[in-house]
Amino acid sequence: MIIAAVGVSAVAAGAAAYGAFHRNSTLFGDVIRTLPKGGKTVSLTFDDGPNPSATPVILDALADRDVRGTFFFLGSHVERWPELVARAAREGHQIGNHGYYHRKLHFKSPAYVRDDLERGKRAIQEAGGGTPRLFRAPHGFRSPWVTPIATSLGERTVGWSLGVWDSDCPGVDVIVQRSVDGVTPGSILLLHDGDGTLPSATGCRRR
Ligand SMILES: [Zn+2]
Repeated sequence: MIIAAVGVSAVAAGAAAYGAFHRNSTLFGDVIRTLPKGGKTVSLTFDDGPNPSATPVILDALADRDVRGTFFFLGSHVERWPELVARAAREGHQIGNHGYYHRKLHFKSPAYVRDDLERGKRAIQEAGGGTPRLFRAPHGFRSPWVTPIATSLGERTVGWSLGVWDSDCPGVDVIVQRSVDGVTPGSILLLHDGDGTLPSATGCRRR
């Protein structure tokens, strides 16, 4: 019985870890992982902006191709460059809440999480980005109360089905190749138009 009990608790601990650490786990609440089946579209999502170097270039490129994306803007960056948020909204892109401070939320209290999400939402609204209906957790990390708090703010939690490690600065060609090779109908592709900790990051430099 002791062995069985240890086994059960190990499974429970493993499941809790999966729920906390995996962006797409539904253990801690419903998450959008892909687009609805049957279509031939993929979703381009951009995290951690707005950023004065990257966001305008991406908005220009999307406009040139008549493509709409989803931007999960970070509240602390939104307050610095509200005009970029307003522009993204004006040009028809969907704007989601990425919280305010970009701290990992899986070990934060309910009060901290609610404050972070509310600050992020308010920043987007005050910038002219409308009321966000989507939320993505920083790094995808959640605890049992992160998604319920987002839901209470009217925001559905979004994960992603394909990451291409663009933050590691592998170069444009590699990012494109990984994206093209990896997408399937309905994929949600994770890209970045900013840096979670460096608001004025000017793009990739070889490190
Ligand atoms: Zn992020």
